[in-house]
Amino acid sequence: MTTSVRTNSIQEPTAFWLTEPCPTWCDMPEMHRAEDVGEDRTHNGELRRLVTTTMDVERSEVDGRVCRGERPPHLMLYLQQGYREVEPRVWVGRDDTNQGVYLTLSEAEQLAATLVDLVKDVR
Ligand SMILES: [Zn+2]
Repeated sequence: MTTSVRTNSIQEPTAFWLTEPCPTWCDMPEMHRAEDVGEDRTHNGELRRLVTTTMDVERSEVDGRVCRGERPPHLMLYLQQGYREVEPRVWVGRDDTNQGVYLTLSEAEQLAATLVDLVKDVR
């Protein structure tokens, strides 16, 4: 009797709810799981951090004690798209606080252009 090991040269989807391949910018396709529900069924792009020298260090209170963040103040930026959404959105958040905004791609372009205009006013 011979036994054979079944090999599969085609990449199997990691989760049944993925009906299409991940977008090319999805940073962790191997993290998608069948048991993902709701907002866990999202594609996430590479996390980018922009350190800011004008913001205070993140502070939080644990058991009545004020704790300061270990990282320098920064903005967190990444793409995110729900698996049934038509296009990604851009998260712009402060530190790891979960405080921030989602922008459509068009809004992100407008913000980028506005920031460049503001800087041009000075330089
Ligand atoms: Zn993905």
